[in-house]
Amino acid sequence: MTSFSGDLFDGRSSQAHPVSASLDGGQLHLTGEDIALVFSLEQIDIAPPVGAARGVVHLPEGRELHSIDLTALAALSQATATNRPERWARHLESRLGYALVALLVSVLVMFAGLRWGVPAVAQLAAHTLPAGLERNIGEESLSLMDKFSLSPSRLPLSRQRTLTQQLAAQCRKQACPPHQLLFRNSTLFGANAMALPGGAIVVTDALVGLALNNTELIAVIAHELGHVAHRHSLRLALQSIGAGVILVAVTGDIGSVTDLAAGLPSLLLQKGYSRDMEREADAYALAWLNTACIPPRHFADILGRLDKDTTDSTTLLDSHPGTHQRLEPFLVPHLCS
Ligand SMILES: [Zn+2]
Repeated sequence: MTSFSGDLFDGRSSQAHPVSASLDGGQLHLTGEDIALVFSLEQIDIAPPVGAARGVVHLPEGRELHSIDLTALAALSQATATNRPERWARHLESRLGYALVALLVSVLVMFAGLRWGVPAVAQLAAHTLPAGLERNIGEESLSLMDKFSLSPSRLPLSRQRTLTQQLAAQCRKQACPPHQLLFRNSTLFGANAMALPGGAIVVTDALVGLALNNTELIAVIAHELGHVAHRHSLRLALQSIGAGVILVAVTGDIGSVTDLAAGLPSLLLQKGYSRDMEREADAYALAWLNTACIPPRHFADILGRLDKDTTDSTTLLDSHPGTHQRLEPFLVPHLCS
């Protein structure tokens, strides 16, 4: 039998009632002046004492038994634990339930993190990384593409120069992100245009061949300027490293610029930009063309032709199942004074 003394609080007033407590026959007996209480061990809870403080036994109806006899309380605690295996089982079960819920939540958070978090962090990282680093990635990508998938343009220099001058003239009239217009020949990329990190815009000979006039090409380039302005290709490259992008965002340090640059050409070719990115670039192009007083339908014209002309999977339209829907805003007659 364990006996000890303590103070009973009735849960209604702050007055302490001295009692003697005893553990007898699986019950806790409390006796004192006008006090005779008996509790089964199922009814009581023992709060572990902190430091040298008093231990507290929680009793039904808000009563509390405080005692400084920590040895006796430890014995009481042991008795309640061994006396109530079913309670511990319940406790464990509830813990298992918590664990399963926690596991489910972790999986959902991880999924959401990869689905939405990584693109969001990539966007953040793309806008905080120094421009010099972005340019490096772009230059590396271009030199790799020049080695493996692009060859020098066969377009007459005069045509290249005219297009460059027409674009430059527009960019004197309205804001354009820093860019560089480049012409290349490529069987792999077909009729295409690509915006690389740092602002290099590569236009293929096949795309120029498909255009009825330079205005159509300027319209496509306006769309690429949208990709440049929003740093889409850098975001695409950063997204490809998945959760690693969080490290980049936090430390601002890209482990290997070469790795990111090496992956970009195939990302652009096979995966392409997300639909959201294309919508952003389209919105940019529409506003840009309207400001330039260039009828936006030129963009719809050449992309429509590209859609019909497509024989392989390497076009500007790859990531757009709904080309017509996408081009609709460009067909609205534009108002230009
Ligand atoms: Zn695009």
